[in-house]
Amino acid sequence: MNDFLFGPDVRPSAEMTVALINTSPARGGEEGLNDTDTLRAMGGEARVYYQPDGSKAEILAMRKLRDRLDDIVKAPDNRQRFTMLNELFYSASAIPQIVTHAEDPRPHFHYTLEDASYVDHLKGVTAYALSRLIIIGEWQRLRTCSGNACNRLFFDTTRNGKRLYCDSRTCGNRIHAARYRIRAAERSLSEN
Ligand SMILES: [Zn+2]
Ligand SMILES: [Zn+2]
Repeated sequence: MNDFLFGPDVRPSAEMTVALINTSPARGGEEGLNDTDTLRAMGGEARVYYQPDGSKAEILAMRKLRDRLDDIVKAPDNRQRFTMLNELFYSASAIPQIVTHAEDPRPHFHYTLEDASYVDHLKGVTAYALSRLIIIGEWQRLRTCSGNACNRLFFDTTRNGKRLYCDSRTCGNRIHAARYRIRAAERSLSEN
């Protein structure tokens, strides 16, 4: 699994999509999208070029987009997914253009016109990421964490695609710690 397989822009777009979906109460347990700083931080981490305007309306619109994206992820089949993705492209007035700019001098696609709103730009970015994962046959790399009491989505970029947890430093380790405690308890029982 590498940038060559995904294309240079799929990975950041997919990571932004997953981060956005995980702000939902259904995924993260509480509302995680309350201010523009959260959008800026997610965009910065995923290296997304577009910058939010900073309005409250934008936050509400981004929550709606997030919930539409999670519905697409949870859709029962690709036929429904295609309809929902095409609706997203259409509602963003998406028009593919080949571009270069200072932040990314390699020729690449933008899916929305330069002066579109941040919300429409992000509709284009996220609909592209999900569409592309289907097209390259890597949809199954979007999965829900196997951790107890964790419902977060993650994007598996490991070579073998067998990752189980959203963040091995937390969910995975809690499981390991629990197993360790059980083994230690079993040892002390057998010693007595
Ligand atoms: Zn760009
Ligand atoms: Zn998790």
